Amino acid sequence: MNRKVTVILNYEKCLPCNELICIDICPGGVFKMGIDGKPQVQDIFSCTECGACERMCPENAIKVIKNDDLENDFKFLGVES
Ligand code: SF4
Ligand code: SF4
Repeated sequence: MNRKVTVILNYEKCLPCNELICIDICPGGVFKMGIDGKPQVQDIFSCTECGACERMCPENAIKVIKNDDLENDFKFLGVES
């Protein structure tokens, strides 16, 4: 697992869009098209954390979360990791 970043796809929001913008725009080739025509994360290790997918998705279906932030959230909630 890439310890630096988590990419979350919300399949209820993803149409998918005609252009499959996230697959097209990602500089790391992180996504591939699944059999349902929606994107899947295939290579999280190549994510540069650029945030382009999150910014460009017309359905706001992608979240890029730095795991440092996630750990801070858990600490805030008092959960030991
Ligand atoms: S850019 Fe958004 S709506 Fe388009 S395929 Fe990717 S996740 Fe789905
Ligand atoms: S943050 Fe950038 S490198 Fe990572 S999945 Fe999104 S577009 Fe690709």
